[in-house]
Amino acid sequence: MEHLVRPCYKQGGYVFAEKAEAIAQEYGVARIARLASNENPYPPSGLAVTAAERELNGSNRYPDERVNVLTQALTSCYGSGHFLTGVGMDGIIETLIRTLVEPGETVAIATPTFSFYGLAAMAQGAKVTAVPRDPSDFSIDAGQLIRAGKTAKVTVICSPNNPTGNATPVTDVGEVLDGIGGIVFLDNAYVEFSDCDYLPLMKKHENLVIGRTFSKAYSLAGMRIGYAFAPAWLVPYYLRAGTPFAVNTVSAAAAAAALKDPEHPKRYIAQVKRWRTRFAAEVKYPVLPSDANFMMVDVSPHSGDRMVENLARRGVIVRSCRSFDGLPDHYIRVSIGQDWENELFIREINSV
Ligand code: PMP
Repeated sequence: MEHLVRPCYKQGGYVFAEKAEAIAQEYGVARIARLASNENPYPPSGLAVTAAERELNGSNRYPDERVNVLTQALTSCYGSGHFLTGVGMDGIIETLIRTLVEPGETVAIATPTFSFYGLAAMAQGAKVTAVPRDPSDFSIDAGQLIRAGKTAKVTVICSPNNPTGNATPVTDVGEVLDGIGGIVFLDNAYVEFSDCDYLPLMKKHENLVIGRTFSKAYSLAGMRIGYAFAPAWLVPYYLRAGTPFAVNTVSAAAAAAALKDPEHPKRYIAQVKRWRTRFAAEVKYPVLPSDANFMMVDVSPHSGDRMVENLARRGVIVRSCRSFDGLPDHYIRVSIGQDWENELFIREINSV
């Protein structure tokens, strides 16, 4: 019956991290450092857990379709703004593209970058124009993005960028916003670990959507909650295009409560900043500067895949960058985890 499946799903797809249990079993290692998915390694805020538990009792009812508990919490946290919510930022990306892009229209993407923009565009039957970043420092090429973005419905910039770690200057994003014909989707998943603030651009530009997530700094990756700052005109159309009731009540309550505990993410953010310096100083391979909770390491003369396997044998799961289109295969990406995980990573990579 496979002939029934759309050709675009016959191969490829999202690359998921190796499972710790599988690696532990395969290599006979008892304790696994999980440094492949850029998660906060610590549990969520107690406020988020309590709110989620409380909400479970009401889960016989459908959620509020506008997810007001979360949009109101976001409004009080940021003072103002219009918000989109989704099942992770992945859900936002998918619904945003569905809202805006007709089959055959174009999505322009600054690459190498996170793969799901391309996959979501493909699902919608869109054409993807990859606009390469500068290979020396992975900065965006604003001129090329503007040229591609003149006709693209959506132009995607990830900042700080996954997997390269660098942030795009606010002025460059402003330049792109001024020059293109459609929307800029600025993926800001790692904003809490960086100093770049793109929110002032929202005041001037009606074509900017800034995506955020509770999966990283807020320790709620398993809850699958993303949000975005959007221009007011877009909100009703996004709601119409979305899967009904996609954001569940338990996750929405957890995320809203997490916003009331700003001390919680601060502890991991401080950990990230400490360890970025240590990784750069102590890893024997070149480590690229990062504004995120992960770092890209140039492991040549090894390939990324070979290094990932070597580290897995030693109980450390990191991500090979081979699957990121536009990157040569001598990079890995390592997340910043707990002290013991980071120490184990440094010790083991330095032994390869
Ligand atoms: N954008 C980027 C750049 C990411 O790295 C990730 C997670 N790996 C996402 C979006 C998706 O985040 P979420 O868990 O909110 O779907």
